[in-house]
Amino acid sequence: MDNQPKLTDKLRLLLVGGEILDLVVIGCGPAILALAAESAKLGLKVGLIGPDLPFTNNYGVWEDEFKDLGLERCIEHVWRDTIVYLDERSDPILVGRAYGRVSRQLLHEELLSRCVESGVLYRSSKVDRIFEANDGHSVVACEDGVSVPCRLVTVASGAASGKLLQYEVGGPRVSVQTAYGVDISKILSCLASKDAMAFDLLKRKLMSRLETMGVKLLKIYEEEWSYIPVGGSLPNTEQKNLAFGAAATMVHPATGYSVVRSLSEAPNYASVIAKILKGNHSKDELTYERNKKCQRSFFLFGLALILQLDIDGIRTFFRTFFRLPNWMSQGFLGSTLSSADLAMRIRLVRHLLSDPTGATMIRTYLTL
Ligand SMILES: Cc1cc2nc3c(=O)[nH]c(=O)nc-3n(C[C@H](O)[C@H](O)[C@H](O)COP(=O)(O)OP(=O)(O)OC[C@H]3O[C@@H](n4cnc5c(N)ncnc54)[C@H](O)[C@@H]3O)c2cc1C
Repeated sequence: MDNQPKLTDKLRLLLVGGEILDLVVIGCGPAILALAAESAKLGLKVGLIGPDLPFTNNYGVWEDEFKDLGLERCIEHVWRDTIVYLDERSDPILVGRAYGRVSRQLLHEELLSRCVESGVLYRSSKVDRIFEANDGHSVVACEDGVSVPCRLVTVASGAASGKLLQYEVGGPRVSVQTAYGVDISKILSCLASKDAMAFDLLKRKLMSRLETMGVKLLKIYEEEWSYIPVGGSLPNTEQKNLAFGAAATMVHPATGYSVVRSLSEAPNYASVIAKILKGNHSKDELTYERNKKCQRSFFLFGLALILQLDIDGIRTFFRTFFRLPNWMSQGFLGSTLSSADLAMRIRLVRHLLSDPTGATMIRTYLTL
């Protein structure tokens, strides 16, 4: 079992009354630990506030993407090829890409050590609210009764951050990805649905599939019940406070993943924060925001497509999707499409239209 270090044992205590902090970051998940460390590395005085709890999710990542982040050593198990089983009748699809299970302990240790090295201060408490003081500073009111003033706040308190952030009204509704898995390295996932699929149904389906495959379970070491909200509205850009990670709806609408994206965007995001604090937030950063919005609308299109399809439609979708050239399918899965890749997106859609099965699927979707 994990033995993740306590943040209180490693980080210096965030006390109030001294110099005003440049940045307070809220939450203790992977996204905010990465952002806190990157911001402090740039010379900002950073305070981290959130309950001192270990990481509990099992994170799966594409091995090449984690290697690119220099986090290879945090992967505890690698499956050399990824195999997609769509139904019992058709051949499995070999994706040709290695998939890894992240060690929660190693990832937590790595991100925490970055925070220690860069001098992040820490207070273990939930945040109750954030308000603006008369002098223009933001004040973070903690549930332990302490109020921390600072120049800027970034919230990364996970998918349910409505208490601390305002979201755009009238955006896409939240869907859910549910999964049930047992530690013999089999996971059954309901890709996404408007309403959550019941866990006992997922469990029964997995057990029946294992039985069909002739797999007899002698002992279950760990069970995982996963519920990931996907889609939903973006944080309102009018508010003073910033959002990051799942709180900023950075979870990929079609895959439910966000860890690689949060960790890879943390350095850039930190430098935007530093520019905002210096008062020279340039137009470039606004363009960056627009790019992200365009990218997200494309991914939401993918989510909407999946939600509309029946089981045969889903199978057709994936047969077509995994026939795409790697650079297209991996770009879609990995959130690496930028507006400069617009041509690639057009080609992706064109490919889906030109493939007979894909064309039928998209025509069906468009006429629904
Ligand atoms: C079960 C599950 C499995 C997932 N698997 C994957 C995966 O395999 N790969 C992948 O890329 N993504 C996965 N995701 C999606 C996403 O990447 C994770 O949710 C990820 O943990 C998001 O990171 P985060 O730091 O933004 O938020 P979280 O990890 O949710 O962290 C939020 C933090 O905020 C703290 N907090 C909450 N409220 C307050 C408050 N009021 N004040 C202060 N702190 C607060 C919490 O204690 C927590 O520390 C999964 C999600 C779930 C739920």
